Amino acid sequence: MKILTVLGARPQFIKAADFSRALDQIDNIEEIIIHTEQHYDPNMSDIFFEEMNIPKPKYLLQTGGKTHGAMTGQQLEQIENIFLYEKPDLVLVYGDTNSTLAGALAAAKLHIPVAHVEAGLRSFNKKMPEEINRILTDQLSDYLFVPSLLAKKNLLNEGINEEKIFVVGDIMYDVFLYYKEKKVKPAWFDSLNLNNFILCTIHRAENTDDKNKLHNIFEGLSLSNKNIILPLYPRTVNKIKEYNLNIAKNIYIVEPVGYLEMVWLEVNTDLIVTDSGGVQKEAYFHGKYCVTLREETEWIELVDQGFNTLVGCNAEVIKNGIIFNLDKHISNKNLYGTGVTSTLITDILSDIR
Ligand code: UDP
Repeated sequence: MKILTVLGARPQFIKAADFSRALDQIDNIEEIIIHTEQHYDPNMSDIFFEEMNIPKPKYLLQTGGKTHGAMTGQQLEQIENIFLYEKPDLVLVYGDTNSTLAGALAAAKLHIPVAHVEAGLRSFNKKMPEEINRILTDQLSDYLFVPSLLAKKNLLNEGINEEKIFVVGDIMYDVFLYYKEKKVKPAWFDSLNLNNFILCTIHRAENTDDKNKLHNIFEGLSLSNKNIILPLYPRTVNKIKEYNLNIAKNIYIVEPVGYLEMVWLEVNTDLIVTDSGGVQKEAYFHGKYCVTLREETEWIELVDQGFNTLVGCNAEVIKNGIIFNLDKHISNKNLYGTGVTSTLITDILSDIR
C-alpha cells in the first residue's frame, strides 16, 4: 500500500516522528511525505526532521507565509498534482492546520481514502481557523482516529458514521513516552541564572492578531512576577514588534526550541502557561498543571479533571491563575490512551484491502 502523508506545521512533524517510525516497520506499506512548508524556519521545521529522524519529504511546496485562503488554495492545487502523479492508496493527515484540510480535500475529490489522526476534537469556537479545518477534515475523512471517547461523541453528533471512527488514544502520548528520557538542556539555560521558572508558549492567531489581547497577556505574565521562559513563535515575535509591546524583566524570550529541549523545559518547569493545544497535553503527561491562555479548549477532559484552567486574556485572571496554581502536581490517569496509538493505527491500516 502506498500512503501519502501531508505535513506542514510543527505539531505535525512531532506526531509524524512517531507514526512514520511505526509505518517503516511494516513491509507492505510505503510512505511518501509531502511537506507544504507552512512552517519553514529552520527552528520550526528542519530541527524536528533532524533530531527526530523523520523521513525526508519527497515534495516541498513552499506555501508558507501567506493568508489562509492563498495558502490553502496553493496547497490544494499542488497536492492534487502530486496525488495524480503518485496515485496513493491512502492519504494521511494530522491535526488541524491548513495543510491538513488541503490534503484531505484534494484526496476526497480524487476519491482517495483519507485517514485523519487526531480527529474529533472541537473547541466549538469557529473563529479559530483550526476549528474550521478540524470540522471540514473530519467530514472528508474515511478513517477517523480519535484520542478519546469525547472526541468520538463529537463526531457522532456531527452525523459521522460510527464505523469510520476508531478510538486509539493520543499519538502525542506515544511521542512523550519515546522521548521523555532523551531530553536536552538548552545551551542558553545556565546563562539565565534561574533557580526556577515557568514555561510559556503563545502562538494562536486569536491571541497574537489582537493588540489588546496580546498586551493583556504580557501584562498578566509581568504581574505574576515569576521567571517566565517563553520560546517564541516567529508570528508572535513579529506582532510584539508591530504592536511595540513592552516586555517586563521577568519574561525571558528565546528562539523556538527543538522537541528534545522542549521536553527538558517541560520536565523542569514549575507550571506551564500556553495557548497551544499540544503543550496543554504535554503538561498533563509531565504531571504539570497548565494555565491556558484561551477561553475554551478542545482538550476538555483536562479542564474537567482539574488539571488545566482557562484564563483567557485578562491580565488579573492570568496573574492569579499563575500564582494560585504554581507547583501544583497532577497525576496521569491515561485520559488519552496508554501510549500504543501508532500500533493501533498501523494495525487498522494494514488490514485495508
Ligand atoms: N514545541 C517545540 N518547541 C517550542 C514550542 C513547542 O518543540 O519552542 C512543541 C511542543 O512540545 C508540542 C508542539 O510543539 O509538541 C506543539 O505545537 P504548537 O504549539 O506549535 O501547535 P499546537 O499544538 O497548538 O497545534
